Amino acid sequence: MIKITFPDGSVREYEKGTTALQIAESISPRLAQDVLAAGINGETWDLSRPIEEDATLKLYKWEDEEGKHTFWHSSAHLLAEALQELYPDIQFGIGPAIENGFYYDVDPGKGVTIKDADLAIVEKKMQELAAKKESLLRQTISKTAALKLFGDRHETYKTELISELADGTITTYTQGAFTDLCRGPHLPDTSSIKAIKLMSVAGAYWRGDEKRPQLTRIYGITFPKKKLLDDYLVLLEEAKKRDHRKIGKEMELFTFSQNVGQGLPLWLPKGTQLRLKLEDFLKKIQREYGYQQVMSPHIGSKSLYVTSGHYAKYGKDSFQPIHTPEEGEEFLLKPMNCPHHCEMYKAFPRSYKDLPLRLAEFGTVYRYEQSGELHGLTRVRGFTQDDAHIFCTPDQVKSEFIKVMEIIHIIFRALNFTDFEAQISLRDPADKEKYIGSEENWQRAEREIIEVCEETGIKAKIELGEAAFYGPKLDFMVKDALGRRWQLGTIQVDYNLPERFELEYIGSDNQRHRPVMIHRAPFGSMERFVAVLIEHTAGKFPLWLVPDQAVILPISERFNDYAESVAKELKKHDIRVIIDDRNEKIGRKIRDNELKKIPYLLIVGEHEQEKNEISVRKQGEGDAGSMKITNFAELLNNEVEKQMNQW
Ligand SMILES: [Zn+2]
Ligand SMILES: [Zn+2]
Repeated sequence: MIKITFPDGSVREYEKGTTALQIAESISPRLAQDVLAAGINGETWDLSRPIEEDATLKLYKWEDEEGKHTFWHSSAHLLAEALQELYPDIQFGIGPAIENGFYYDVDPGKGVTIKDADLAIVEKKMQELAAKKESLLRQTISKTAALKLFGDRHETYKTELISELADGTITTYTQGAFTDLCRGPHLPDTSSIKAIKLMSVAGAYWRGDEKRPQLTRIYGITFPKKKLLDDYLVLLEEAKKRDHRKIGKEMELFTFSQNVGQGLPLWLPKGTQLRLKLEDFLKKIQREYGYQQVMSPHIGSKSLYVTSGHYAKYGKDSFQPIHTPEEGEEFLLKPMNCPHHCEMYKAFPRSYKDLPLRLAEFGTVYRYEQSGELHGLTRVRGFTQDDAHIFCTPDQVKSEFIKVMEIIHIIFRALNFTDFEAQISLRDPADKEKYIGSEENWQRAEREIIEVCEETGIKAKIELGEAAFYGPKLDFMVKDALGRRWQLGTIQVDYNLPERFELEYIGSDNQRHRPVMIHRAPFGSMERFVAVLIEHTAGKFPLWLVPDQAVILPISERFNDYAESVAKELKKHDIRVIIDDRNEKIGRKIRDNELKKIPYLLIVGEHEQEKNEISVRKQGEGDAGSMKITNFAELLNNEVEKQMNQW
């Protein structure tokens, strides 16, 4: 008999060789139906794999990442099986599960192409095969046998992968006539795959290398219930409507130009207005928290980044150095602001009385990204971090952390990110050598980060081995209105840069000490944050933040002068207002400006001019009646004030 320990700590005995599926059946038939994979001693296993020794057991369902992952990975195999039937000369690359679904990279064979239009047939074949309830059988195989098996089938991509594996670790999975080289885990059989949707076809270089053959990548997603697929497709439609690239264009926030260069966003007047509002908002909070604003140039001497260690680590994969024509100097586009701030720290001798020193900069940095990786504002080559570096004593790390967390809370509250969580990244306890900084400082900082999360009541999960080599960190993930998760801000403790830059302060003991450095960026970057904010709000920004709070719509050209005088009056009350004086019908003007998500539409015509009033329409709510200009200004400013009081 073997002992199985359940997540609640209870222990039950089973016969040696029992499978997780049999254990689930012994608990309830319903559970056995829902369960997709098993966690055996922390490793994800097939439900049908015999358990030979005492173990801890977790049963994963659809709701668990591990469950979904197993489901989608098995679906990738199902896709491959279907393709093999339809395209006899096909060769397979890799077919992993991804965040939403799965893909398979394939080489369809000489002269054969697979297009979007072909997907419906493949989908149908998958459905047919899934209904057959084929078991996915795991087999351990020697390297020689694996090379022969796939070699005989002329699977050159698979044999390349096998040649890199160690003998004794190789497994295959077979369902029906399809066998794949695979580590697993997988579903017991294909019958739980009830709803199938193949999404798209794309090109992908074998192993991501543009010098290797280009394969065909087929993306798909599957679900255990049809309803889940329907919901997903609705969500996808909604996500498309909220795409920040689309809304950014409609609202005239930003643009890209091939003449300027890929991945280099151009902030248009309205986007700049929005961004400056966000910057002012954060600057105001930071002033209250004792930060000082600084500025540094966009390039820095290469030697600066040699000192910081960034050059050794990222130099080859970055923009290459800029050379001066005469002096033989070398500069790098600034990839991060930290080294500049270290030099500011060093500008004067520092004493413990100067600490914490909090230097903040909206610093624009440049990082090379492959052109294929660029995406709207979320993956760019030049971006502005809402950066700050806090230089403090080891004693101050905890209280500084608490203050940064408070700032992050204020930001999330002001922008309606009600659902967020954090990830605490700590050292790998088994490999302490690879981290720099004293054991004492690490232990203390790690403990304090955990305490801070507990004390501030933030949901945080701990990941061992995820810390940077220079210190532990805390990253924030928000859930947007569609339930998608985005990584935003970060707080990182750093023992490395103070060492490399030989930063010092004189302690109360009159001795020299090393300060600790905390890097933090609550937004992450202005570009990414604005992108997430657009997709979260669908462009309906809170009134305090929105670039144009109101637009005046004259019914005809005759009222353009009156519109001008209304605008002048409103601007006196600090209201951000524009006029749409195009020679268009009023209905058209209303529709266009609603699309631009301007919160208030102010219509002016004969009647309004006579009474010195405006007719107010609120976005999404319609007619709000006519009122005096000053009354409207008061109404709007009260609304803004109310929002700002909620911070
Ligand atoms: Zn696989
Ligand atoms: Zn930094």
